[in-house]
Amino acid sequence: MRPLDEATARAWLVTALDEARAGMAEGGVPVGAALYGADGALLGRGRNRRVQDGDPSTHAETAAFRAAGRQRSYRGTTMVTTLSPCWYCSGLVRQFGISRVVIGEAVTFRGGHDWLAEHGVEVVVLDDPECVAMMREFTARHPELWGEDIGE
Ligand SMILES: [Zn+2]
Repeated sequence: MRPLDEATARAWLVTALDEARAGMAEGGVPVGAALYGADGALLGRGRNRRVQDGDPSTHAETAAFRAAGRQRSYRGTTMVTTLSPCWYCSGLVRQFGISRVVIGEAVTFRGGHDWLAEHGVEVVVLDDPECVAMMREFTARHPELWGEDIGE
């Protein structure tokens, strides 16, 4: 797998952030994600749609994964997400052998990314202040909605 430079990681995060912002504007959970191919091409992007679609299984990562359609292999692909992936999405990464996860922030929520790293997934945490600010604003305004999303 090609090493990932920080400029590319941050550029990819912008795609996920755009999705998260759109989710926020729709009144949804503001988490966005994008799946990039081994060659750096954007395969799919999406956002959490729990509120918009009434579908608790549509997290940002699953939405991006589904938007990418069928892929013969996920080797070399990168899942970019604005927030540390929950257990459900961490499971998706392992199930399909996605090689790398780029995470906007893991301050407001810490999902399964240590577990992914222990199992050979390359994990990059960017500590992006905008991702943190968005989640802080959302969880302060809608604590019940956030609790529902993470199963608490
Ligand atoms: Zn998730």
